[in-house]
Amino acid sequence: MPRSTVQFQRGLSLTSFLATYGTEEQCREALYRIRWPSGFCCPRCGHRSCFLIKTRMLYQCTGCRTQTSLMSGTVFGCSKLPLTIWSLPFS
Ligand SMILES: [Zn+2]
Repeated sequence: MPRSTVQFQRGLSLTSFLATYGTEEQCREALYRIRWPSGFCCPRCGHRSCFLIKTRMLYQCTGCRTQTSLMSGTVFGCSKLPLTIWSLPFS
């Protein structure tokens, strides 16, 4: 039976975890890489470039001007919790 690489991956030490995901900015960068591994892609038109509206942390497509958050459409979408809380390992 094949082993799941996700299930059997080595864990991070708390020190390594905090160094990688300890701040909201680091969590946001990690989520960005997971959501758009090859760069931004507009959920409406598929355009590949955007700019960040920093005051609201929204990504606006330069093609159709659709604004999307990093978390919309994900499990984090309706949450008010900071990403640093969501990223804590559950054990
Ligand atoms: Zn677009």
